[in-house]
Amino acid sequence: MPAELPTRPRTVISRDPATGEILRELDCASDAAVHEIVARAQAAQLPWQRLGVRQRVEVLRRFQALLSARKLEVAERITREAGKPRVEALSTEVLVVLDAARFLIEHAYRLLREEPLAHGNLAMKIKAGRILRQPYGIVGIISPWNYPFSVPATETLAALVAGNAVVLKPSEFTPLCALELQSLLHAAGVPQDVFCVVVGDGATGAALVTSGIQKLVFTGSVATGKRIAQSAAERLLPVVLELGGKDPMIVLEDADLDIASSGAVWGAFMNAGQTCLSVERCYVHRSRYAEFVMACVRKTQLLRLGNGMEPATDVGPMIHERQRRIVESHVEDARARGARVLTGGVALPELGPNFYAPTVLADVHHEMRVMREETFGPVLPIMPFDSEEEAVRLANDSQYGLAASVWTRDRARGATLARRIEAGTVMVNDTVSCFGISEAPHGGVKASGLGRTHGRFGLEEMVWVKYLDCDRLPGMKKPWWYRYGEKFGQSMSAFADAMFARTLGGRLRGAVRSAGMLRRKEQL
Ligand code: NAD
Repeated sequence: MPAELPTRPRTVISRDPATGEILRELDCASDAAVHEIVARAQAAQLPWQRLGVRQRVEVLRRFQALLSARKLEVAERITREAGKPRVEALSTEVLVVLDAARFLIEHAYRLLREEPLAHGNLAMKIKAGRILRQPYGIVGIISPWNYPFSVPATETLAALVAGNAVVLKPSEFTPLCALELQSLLHAAGVPQDVFCVVVGDGATGAALVTSGIQKLVFTGSVATGKRIAQSAAERLLPVVLELGGKDPMIVLEDADLDIASSGAVWGAFMNAGQTCLSVERCYVHRSRYAEFVMACVRKTQLLRLGNGMEPATDVGPMIHERQRRIVESHVEDARARGARVLTGGVALPELGPNFYAPTVLADVHHEMRVMREETFGPVLPIMPFDSEEEAVRLANDSQYGLAASVWTRDRARGATLARRIEAGTVMVNDTVSCFGISEAPHGGVKASGLGRTHGRFGLEEMVWVKYLDCDRLPGMKKPWWYRYGEKFGQSMSAFADAMFARTLGGRLRGAVRSAGMLRRKEQL
């Protein structure tokens, strides 16, 4: 028998997407290593839970101070690994995390503390109820590359402050941003085994799902989300799924077109369109369609493309060639089906390996892939509509339901329309920015996912609710215990009348007839 060759561990390669330069190559954690890290987290979690919320809030405060002091350094790390302009790394990643920490510092204690639960049922007033919020234990977090710092960090801070340990599997394209988060958290006082990054690819993520974690927060594509949900179902692992989007933007005839077109261009092209909340479909009232399209084309042509490290860069590269090819295929499909490419529509290899020109498409329709599938790139397809009814129908004609926006000078009209759109968030006269509101729940409906992150609802995902019930009269047998019989049945019926008879007289009669229930002699 030939001797077995030693197998080299799989690796992930972190590259600068603007230049293709290799930043670092790291070994993927083996399945055994993932299991060992989870076992260590398990051992470290209880002392962390016992520390109490106030102490953990102090750790968050230190984390916030450290991140604030190192904000430019962290932003630069994000730009180098994910390509986005440094100012975007600052505004949509570092600032979002600083503010998420602020929210938890201000509110975690109040939101997580025990609370008494009053009982309305007369018979149950002899019991004192309390609601307890218990950490799950170990929360596994699997995150994508497009917000490589803010997505895992906001989820991690909520999980940690609630008393969980966290094992994070970041995207194989952006492990260094996650390691930056790890070093900040450890420096702030989170014990080594209470927060740990496992570097790796999809297989490493799959190992984490089956490793013994007690909750999973996954952010990524619908395809991976479905695979993970199946694996999680095997062991009834509770999951939050933050998946893709195909966010519609509706521009009504009374909208301020200068504002709306600037919003559309930013919402479609920030982070080179690689944002789950990007404007992916734009619907404009036919009476303003031509004017709006031309404003978008003009503003798009003013955008400066380049390396995100340059302060003047508006749009950086896409993350990698595979993502760029998806965008190309959507634009080509649209072109072949009759869309007009008014600007862009080409790769820009002269700038670097992953640049694609911001693209405005007109005359698109719902048979095109660009209007049905997540493009996740710098493409703004614009389609006219004739009535509000039609706009709502088009917006809802999608498997996705992450976010949406309505643009109008009439705020009340916008809010009324927003209520009819199937999406986790609908903004009136803005787009994407909801991600920066720490109080606002983030998440989708339909194929965009399950559960919420951010704010109160995101924090509640990190705990399970325990109901604690203490009897105020422990020396008394409960009247509804054994033994049953005719008389007891009558008393029960009378008690139901005492509680729910329609007239006051009926309730009083019921109370009198059921009073004997408290002195039942025949009980076992
Ligand atoms: P992806 O699904 O390819 O990967 C996400 C993560 O899952 C990565 O860490 C990857 O290694 C891991 N993974 C892959 N296969 C796995 C498996 N079988 N088991 C466990 N883990 C596995 O997504 P992506 O390309 O990194 O990210 C882009 C997608 O993320 C887009 O669809 C975007 O809309 C979505 N996204 C959603 C939100 C949101 O909040 N809803 C935020 C950001 C990104």
